[in-house]
Amino acid sequence: MALGIYEETQRALQRAIEALQLPEDVYEHLKEPQRVLTINIPIRMDDGRIRAFTGFRAQHSNVLGPYKGGVRFHTSVTLEEVKALSVWMTLKCSVVGLPFGGAKGGIVVDPEQLSAHELERLSRAYIRNIREFVGFDKDIPAPDVNTNEQVMAWMSDELSQLEERNVFNTLTGKPLLLGGSQGRKEATGLGVVHVAELAARAFGLTNEPSLKGLRVAIQGFGNVGSEAARFCAQSGAKVVAISDEKGGRYDPDGLDLPSLFAYRADQGSIAAAPLGQAIGPAGPLTLPCDVLIPAALEDQITADNAASVQARLVVEAANGPTTNEAAEILFQRSIPIVPDILANAGGVIVSYFEWVQDLESYFWAREDVIDRLKRILTDAFGRVYAMYERKAVDLRHAAYMVAVERLAEAMQLRGWY
Ligand code: GLU
Repeated sequence: MALGIYEETQRALQRAIEALQLPEDVYEHLKEPQRVLTINIPIRMDDGRIRAFTGFRAQHSNVLGPYKGGVRFHTSVTLEEVKALSVWMTLKCSVVGLPFGGAKGGIVVDPEQLSAHELERLSRAYIRNIREFVGFDKDIPAPDVNTNEQVMAWMSDELSQLEERNVFNTLTGKPLLLGGSQGRKEATGLGVVHVAELAARAFGLTNEPSLKGLRVAIQGFGNVGSEAARFCAQSGAKVVAISDEKGGRYDPDGLDLPSLFAYRADQGSIAAAPLGQAIGPAGPLTLPCDVLIPAALEDQITADNAASVQARLVVEAANGPTTNEAAEILFQRSIPIVPDILANAGGVIVSYFEWVQDLESYFWAREDVIDRLKRILTDAFGRVYAMYERKAVDLRHAAYMVAVERLAEAMQLRGWY
């Protein structure tokens, strides 16, 4: 039987700890989140009735700094998933060298079924329920799947009202007017494309410093998928396939992105857009392309479809889109996977910049944000690639090793083992 997502994560952690020849003590600290909250969130619906939603916050490790991580609103949210995502946040912050630990939160809900007022009440109630556990030096939430600047604004306002002072530095991914950062909204997608450029060159797909002429397929058209598509095009790539939750489009000659964006703005989904051929939500995963960017949810490239992947390089924009088994199959097939904890770290890197700017009440120009973001990602890619070359392992394992090494060193300095 396939392992659950959390057990898979534990396995991968264990493997990194063993490869680094670190003591079991390190695993004892990292195998479970330090704190997990499950909350029942009753809110009043527009029709006057009360409906209760289930929410979670998992705080995995704060060995390197305050817990950090997003909050997602999705019907597939489970405690197991939130726990795994919190571990990945610890590893993500560590691999790129941020002074943060890892956390993740979620609510089991389909936000499309709620009115704007219901969504606001739910967002406020969620943060109210976890308020003693968050703070700029404790745990700093941010957007994730189906949450955005508006949700962060409501949550920031709720906390500020309760505290009777503005505590905008407690969340990131906020609107610019409420202490947000330039570049935060597009940071994850931009980072994914920057890392794709570095990897495409390192693995010999191109000699250019850009994605010029390469065919890209993207699964997911949320914030990350859309921004990634936009920056791929800017980098000279041809986006040949893209899909959302309802379906997608494929054109081997390249899709016209402005038309797709316009169609989505109008219709909500690109499934029936009059461009190229229709494909299913998972279509992009197995179509011919140079670079595949899974930018939807976990468990998309599995043992079932890994043999059908036709890409030459996979860059994980979603968290956990490739199972361990599938990663092994792609490794055997010599298709490198740039792991999520490195590839999609752009979001939390600019969240870090936002936090720094809020603490100083001094805000940077967009170019400064983007320059610093690219520098951090380039350095982190270099560290992971060096580990990969030295140890002859896959990139994901190499990234885990880089991350765990830093966590273990901090633990030792703090006397945790
Ligand atoms: N939700 C994003 C992630 O998975 C960003 C987290 C953050 O900015 O704290 O990396």
